Amino acid sequence: MQVETVFDIFVIGGGINGCGIARDAVGRGYSVALAEMNDFASGTSSGATKLIHGGLRYLEYYEFRLVREALMEREVLWAMAPHVIWPLRFVLPFQRGGIRPAWLIRLGLFLYDHLGGRKLLPATRTLDLRRDPAGKPLKPIFSKAFEYSDGWVDDARMVVLNARDAADRGATILSRTKVTSARRENGLWAVTVRDQATGRTQSFRARMLVNAAGPWVDQVLAGAFGRNNVHNVRLVQGSHIIVKKKFTDPRAYFFQNPDNRIIFAIPYENDFTLIGTTDRDYTDDPKNVKISEAEIAYLCNAASEYFAESVKKDDIVWSYSAVRPLYDDGASKAQEATRDYVLKLDRAPEEAPLLNVFGGKLTTYRRLAEHALEKIGEVIGVRGSPWTAKSRLPGGDFEVTAYLAEVDKLLKAYLFLERSHAERLVRCYGTNAKEILAGASRAEDMGRHFGGSLYECEVRWLVDREWARSAEDVLWRRTKQGLFLTAGEAAELEKYMAVAIVH
Ligand SMILES: Cc1cc2nc3c(=O)[nH]c(=O)nc-3n(C[C@H](O)[C@H](O)[C@H](O)COP(=O)(O)OP(=O)(O)OC[C@H]3O[C@@H](n4cnc5c(N)ncnc54)[C@H](O)[C@@H]3O)c2cc1C
Repeated sequence: MQVETVFDIFVIGGGINGCGIARDAVGRGYSVALAEMNDFASGTSSGATKLIHGGLRYLEYYEFRLVREALMEREVLWAMAPHVIWPLRFVLPFQRGGIRPAWLIRLGLFLYDHLGGRKLLPATRTLDLRRDPAGKPLKPIFSKAFEYSDGWVDDARMVVLNARDAADRGATILSRTKVTSARRENGLWAVTVRDQATGRTQSFRARMLVNAAGPWVDQVLAGAFGRNNVHNVRLVQGSHIIVKKKFTDPRAYFFQNPDNRIIFAIPYENDFTLIGTTDRDYTDDPKNVKISEAEIAYLCNAASEYFAESVKKDDIVWSYSAVRPLYDDGASKAQEATRDYVLKLDRAPEEAPLLNVFGGKLTTYRRLAEHALEKIGEVIGVRGSPWTAKSRLPGGDFEVTAYLAEVDKLLKAYLFLERSHAERLVRCYGTNAKEILAGASRAEDMGRHFGGSLYECEVRWLVDREWARSAEDVLWRRTKQGLFLTAGEAAELEKYMAVAIVH
């Protein structure tokens, strides 16, 4: 075991919060290391509903601070990553005698439109569902709806782009590396990590430690730090189902359920509809989280209340489940637990400080990182100043409204590309799509075809630039090509990856 350099900051966890903090910190001039025990975004950050949203529902719980911050972030994040984030209109049908009166929804949406930050996103409007195409897939009892704006994000890609940018700016970013112990020694942290593939251990020293282990934040405190009786997070499971396209309209739906909860039905990967989510307390190890039969029934029934053609279990082509690491504020119901984040400094004189991160949302990760950096500055000295609001994530260096122009540019440069393939590449990689295709002048130059629109040149890029190590990394996190490959094709990709990683 060899002792390495002293970092200013060592971050545990490669979800959106850990990667966001690492990126912000290295950009301000701190020396930074980050360890993720599995793949980036393999925890909660690939299991979200994927909305960049203010959270209309949180207004009912008076979470005005959170909603305002989140609303303001929508256009900031969109400008930062116009490839993986884009605006989405939501249709919220309502009926007389429904769950919430129309005036209440109207008031919520008025606040939503006016709490701040909305420059490009269009305002709320009322729809007559008997005339508007959004009414077509719905039951005829729904004749009126509100339509409002929020945003969509490819969550797992936003995480890896933060990790990539942090690494490009000089951070040491370690994937599949678990932090197994952290001890305070002579005013510094002594951190031991284990490479999950080889079993090799390594030590690092750091002036400050950030515990951004999401649902594992308490486990890290108990395991790596040896703390007793830790109970800071409330784990709340949320599951989603993906079914063949239920509607052709580009807008998403916001459905209110009789239990006062809400679910979304969202256009997904061109050919599908994403339906979710559920909200229930969870007590098992987060790594075992899996959709239950009861959740499947709940989501099918809730969506079938609205769609003219019901949603059946047999329609499901994929599902995923994750746990929200919510700060435990003692709320009685899972859906009422605060969605806001809490940053807690753990320090004593002469001892190296620890910052624990609880809760949070994809939408507020950048602001969470800024707040974390304020706290870090207080204890180890301020470096630099906030810079990420006007930054671009890798591949996001084009105008927010210029996605289609980028697709056209790619099609012009690579005449052999199918339009749908070019669209997907620009969505995933933005201006870096041309790096992936560099030198190709015919389809054959993209290398081996693995199925769907996945070719060898893209897989190589993901291995070389985005730490992809398994077929699952490629098919379900860096892309969603898993929806389009057969089991046999996925197995062939796995074999190829084993060789690609060695060479
Ligand atoms: C069902 C659901 C829907 C959601 N929908 C939305 C939404 O639409 N919009 C929105 O803004 N937010 C949404 N969220 C919230 C958002 O997804 C989470 O707040 C966010 O992803 C949490 O990120 P994180 O980095 O804290 O945790 P994670 O992504 O879980 O990251 C923590 C990481 O730490 C790693 N780790 C743990 N222990 C160790 C160790 N010892 N060593 C090294 N690494 C370790 C884990 O492997 C993990 O990758 C949703 C959440 C859920 C569950």
